[in-house]
Amino acid sequence: MTEKLSLLERLSKGVVLGAEGYVFELERRGYIKAGPYVPEVVLDYPEAVKELHREFLLAGAEVMVALTYYGDREKMKVVGREGDLEALNRQAVRLAREVAAEGNALVAGNIANTWVYDHHNKEATSKKVRQIYTEQVGWAVDEGADFIIAETIDYLGEGLLALEVIKKFGLPAMITFGATQDTLRDGAGFVEACKTLASEGADVVGLNCSRGPATMLPLLKAIRQEVSNYVAAQPVPYHTNPEQFAFQHLRLPGRERGFPIALEPFMCDRFEMADFAKQALEIGVNYIGICCGGAPHHVRAMAEALGRTPPASRYSPDLALHPMIGADVKDKDREFLDFWKD
Ligand SMILES: [Zn+2]
Repeated sequence: MTEKLSLLERLSKGVVLGAEGYVFELERRGYIKAGPYVPEVVLDYPEAVKELHREFLLAGAEVMVALTYYGDREKMKVVGREGDLEALNRQAVRLAREVAAEGNALVAGNIANTWVYDHHNKEATSKKVRQIYTEQVGWAVDEGADFIIAETIDYLGEGLLALEVIKKFGLPAMITFGATQDTLRDGAGFVEACKTLASEGADVVGLNCSRGPATMLPLLKAIRQEVSNYVAAQPVPYHTNPEQFAFQHLRLPGRERGFPIALEPFMCDRFEMADFAKQALEIGVNYIGICCGGAPHHVRAMAEALGRTPPASRYSPDLALHPMIGADVKDKDREFLDFWKD
């Protein structure tokens, strides 16, 4: 049996490839309600969650992230399922573990922005956030998570709370901010916030969600220059640009917001995400992944761009075998091909 290296051992040897976007992908598949985005699927259709874990695993992801994103007490209340809180959190980690064992992957527990924290009412809201994180991380640790990812954090203050709770449980902490604005909501810059978390003991810091590769990379370079700890980057696979630098800003031709359920026209293809993986590697990012909108074909292309051959590479494209655009077009098809050319 192959020895299972820890997150920090893997990072010390090279890049760790992650994969996320479970909530968006399972919403597209009909298992999660857009709006509240509570991962009820964990309890209602566990096989669907396992299937997506497995698809990411086969595509080369080294980390199975338990689907507890927005599975916190406050969010569960929104869909009237507060009573299922503990069962959902425990089951999510178990599902991730079951699939991780099929491919020597790590299991990450997952907490996120709570929408409870308010830096203008810091003391009272911190208490509530601390409770939310403590119960979620506690269940993840109990069920055998290898480390904890706190993600899409919009306040330095909330990031520090996540770090405090994770460290209390003694697990490695990866904390990433969502860069929807120019700064975090409590005014801290992203570079400064990553530095602060790193100096307070976060093992991995960085960015996830909100920005596509084009607008996340410049910020990552700045973070990489200033932070000596491991850096993570999990962008969304969408064509963000300097004017609309986060996917929440993207507008359809009629000026309607594309976020969150009409983003397809902005989607990056697998080649663009492969290119992102290479560029992130070049600037020294240590944990490379993908967030909302990400799918297994992106992850496989990213794995291959990093020089890997995951199990799903067995089915990687070979367009030379295509009857019309391949190497061997039959005489009877040549005329038909003329219609494809322009
Ligand atoms: Zn995301």
